[in-house]
Parts: sequence; structure tokens; C-alpha cells
Amino acid sequence: MEEIDCAVIGAGVVGLAVARALALAGREVLVLESERAIGTGTSSRNSEVIHAGIYYPEGSLKAKLCVEGKELLYAYAAERGVPHRRCGKLIVATSPGQADQLEAIRVKAAANGVGDLAMMTAQQAIALEPQLHCVAALHSPSTGIVDSHALMLSLLGDIENSGGMLALKSPITRAECGDGTVVLIAEDGTALRCRSVVNAAGLGAPSLARRFEGLPSSAVPKEYFAKGNYFTLSGRAPFGRLVYPVPEPGGLGVHLTIDLGGQAKFGPDVQWVSSPDDLVVDPTRGDDFYAEVRKYWPALPDGALIPGYAGMRPKISGPGEPAADFMIDGPDSHGVQGLVNLFGIESPGLTSSLAIGRHVARLLADE
Ligand SMILES: Cc1cc2nc3c(=O)[nH]c(=O)nc-3n(C[C@H](O)[C@H](O)[C@H](O)COP(=O)(O)OP(=O)(O)OC[C@H]3O[C@@H](n4cnc5c(N)ncnc54)[C@H](O)[C@@H]3O)c2cc1C
Repeated sequence: MEEIDCAVIGAGVVGLAVARALALAGREVLVLESERAIGTGTSSRNSEVIHAGIYYPEGSLKAKLCVEGKELLYAYAAERGVPHRRCGKLIVATSPGQADQLEAIRVKAAANGVGDLAMMTAQQAIALEPQLHCVAALHSPSTGIVDSHALMLSLLGDIENSGGMLALKSPITRAECGDGTVVLIAEDGTALRCRSVVNAAGLGAPSLARRFEGLPSSAVPKEYFAKGNYFTLSGRAPFGRLVYPVPEPGGLGVHLTIDLGGQAKFGPDVQWVSSPDDLVVDPTRGDDFYAEVRKYWPALPDGALIPGYAGMRPKISGPGEPAADFMIDGPDSHGVQGLVNLFGIESPGLTSSLAIGRHVARLLADE
């Protein structure tokens, strides 16, 4: 049987960041990816926003790893020439009733260590973005955007330069845990004995973990899938910054993001679905977007929204339940030596990726 020090299952941005951290720590690393290329899962179907860390509950992994990850990501992108822009974001109140909520958001962000949010009057916000309608706004200067594909290629370069390897078209179907090692079994029957295994299989992480013999079933959460549909704007982006309404129960509201090429898109919305493969955008969902967007951009022309793409959130809490935190479980949580499972790595997983990498490398180093 082949043997390796560490195997990371999944070559999305999080798996690659974890593999990089392990490789830089001097570990022998193999990344196993079921598809023909890296980053074809959720990592290529998101907003590419570097989140500031504003909304997450104080003390949560999401709050901590987002704030830490944001700083690591800006520094890494600048050092490696990964395209990115610290464009900033406006959270806008469009009715007097919402204005009070901005102060509550500012206080919550400060508790997470995001102390740079600035309250703005409507006039100040409109001076920044003349097409905007609002009664007040909150400016987040540390929110930005990043080219997620360039980031993943750069992470892969680091892994390979540190002696790590990538195996594409290598789906893992199950594992046998015990005796201080984890034996991974690939679809073609190949067995690989590993001292450490990181399950970074994204949407497939819980179902895969259920096929890890020796891992207690209580250590694997139930998975849910929440599709996020995007509608792209035909024509020029009306704003230079990201624009978000005040969050609504269940989501961040229909917001505007821009990519590094200047393309504006609205979304993602929240559509609970039963299959992670259900990625087709239903054009009729765009009808609801017009009214929402016109609350902050009244000049949105009829017919300007075009069905774009959809991404799937790897949820571990269901509809109507409070949003779950990232679940990053090492041996202390589940009792299996050498194994770390990553569950529910939804947004802000891209922003947090380098911090998650560090966190997982520490969990395995502590063993
Ligand atoms: C709509 C949407 C918008 C988002 N916007 C943002 C944002 O703006 N900013 C932000 O910070 N975060 C955002 N996120 C979150 C972010 O995209 C994810 O947290 C991140 O991409 C997760 O990366 P991952 O590597 O864990 O998963 P994935 O990218 O899904 O990678 C998992 C990989 O594992 C592979 N795999 C699965 N099963 C197996 C197996 N059995 N064997 C081998 N390989 C396997 C898959 O093929 C895949 O390549 C968003 C998410 C969504 C859904």
C-alpha cells in the first residue's frame, strides 16, 4: 500500500490553502481532487468579495478567521501579484426605519475587531456614488474583491514549490480510520495510508465523512444546500464600490458586487434546494430583483438584468435555523487521530481561506 504523510481531499480554495500551510510547515502533502481541474466547485461560483468580517457572531470561527484571513489575503495578494482591489463597500439604509440598524451593525463589527466602519449621511454617500439612493450609509473601507482563480493558481504554485503534489481525477470514496493512520480508498480501489487527512470536499464533505469507518456518526452534521442565483447587469456598472442593503432575516439582501473586469452583478439570493448539482438559474427569480435593487438604485433600466450563474452554499443549518458557524473538527472533537473535517465552509470561506489553512495546520501540529 502507498503511504503519505498528509492528504488533503478537495482542491478548492480552502483545500489548497490548507495544503499550502501544511507544505510550508514542512509536511509531505498530496492534494486529491475528483475533477479534472482545481477550483471547479463553490470556489468558482461565488462573489469574489474579500469580506471585512462585519456580520458574524462575536467569538465565532467565521468572525475570527474572516478578520485574520482578510489581512493575510491582502498581504498575500499584494506580495504575489494576485489581482485584487480594496474597493470598499457601502451598506445602505433606504428607509428611516433602517437607519438605526446601521449603528447596530457598526457596533457588532467593532466587537469582531472591524473598527474602521464609518457612518455617512445620505449626502456623503451620494457624493461617493452619485447614482445611489439612501437615507444613510455605513462605509466599510477594508472590503474588497479578488481574482479567486489567480489566487488558487498561486496557492498551487506554493504547494508544488514546497514539494507538495496534486492528483486530479482522483475521487475518494471512503476511508478506514484506526491505529493512528487513515487509509483512503479511491474510486479505482487504490488505497493510500496517511498520517494526516483533511476532508476539504466542500459540498461533499459530510457525505464523504459518513463513509469514514471509525469516525463516530455523531461527528458528521446533516447537510443542506442553499443555492445563490446571480443576475448580471448589461451595461456599465453604476457604482465603483460594492453596495449592500441592510441585511434581512435569512440573508444579506440583493446586493451589488463588481468584479475586477468592472462587470456588475446582483445577488446571490437564497433558494433552498435538495441537490448540490442544481445550479441552473431560474430566469423568473430575476423579477423580484428589480424592486429590491431599485430601492438603492432607482435608475435600474427595465430588462437590464440577465440570468448569470449560481453557486451552492454548503450549509449545515437548515431553513429558518440560525446560521451555523464553520465546523472545523480535529482529533480533539471526534477522537480520530490525524483527521480534520471541514464542514459548512460557506461565505466567508474564500476570505478566510489562508487563516483556515493556518488553523488546520496548527490542529494537526498539536497532535
Ligand atoms: C453563492 C456564494 C457566494 C459566495 N461569496 C463569497 C464571497 O464573496 N467571499 C467569500 O469569502 N466567500 C464566499 N463564498 C464562500 C466560498 O466560495 C467558499 O467558502 C469556498 O469557495 C469553499 O471552498 P472549498 O475549498 O471548501 O470548497 P469547494 O470549492 O467546493 O472545493 C471542494 C473540492 O472538493 C472536491 N471534492 C468533493 N468531493 C471529493 C471527493 N470525494 N474526492 C476528491 N475531491 C472531492 C470538489 O470537486 C471540489 O473541487 C460564497 C459561496 C457561495 C455559495
